[in-house]
Amino acid sequence: MDECIFCKIIKGEIPSSKVYEDEDVLAFNDISPAAPVHVLVIPKKHISSLNDINEENSKVIAHVFVVISKLAKELGIDEDGFRVVSNCGEAAGQTVHHVHFHLLGKKKFTWPPG
Ligand code: AMP
Ligand code: ZN
Repeated sequence: MDECIFCKIIKGEIPSSKVYEDEDVLAFNDISPAAPVHVLVIPKKHISSLNDINEENSKVIAHVFVVISKLAKELGIDEDGFRVVSNCGEAAGQTVHHVHFHLLGKKKFTWPPG
């Protein structure tokens, strides 16, 4: 997607504070952190939102969660606990239409979220 900001980050056209990268997944710090640890984990393939997950592209989403589990350990948030959020669509407040998973930690969270 030419105009997608996360595709531009993947291509290196927009700078990011990279935390992890492999062939299929990129993780970088959120520009406007909502917690002391706030990393965005995204598939390199453009998928607009959770509404577009299907059998064909689900493998990369599974891999995203393997990366999240590794990163939680590396970032030292696995033992205290952390939260993973993916906003889907307008009601959830999705602002970037490239599916992404917020990995949030080093904060005490409440439930249900606001
Ligand atoms: P959402 O509101 O769930 O779509 O989340 C989009 C997230 O992307 C927000 O938390 C933004 O702060 C973050 N974001 C937007 N632009 C950038 C950028 N250039 N680099 C890092 N994070 C960004
Ligand atoms: Zn994209």
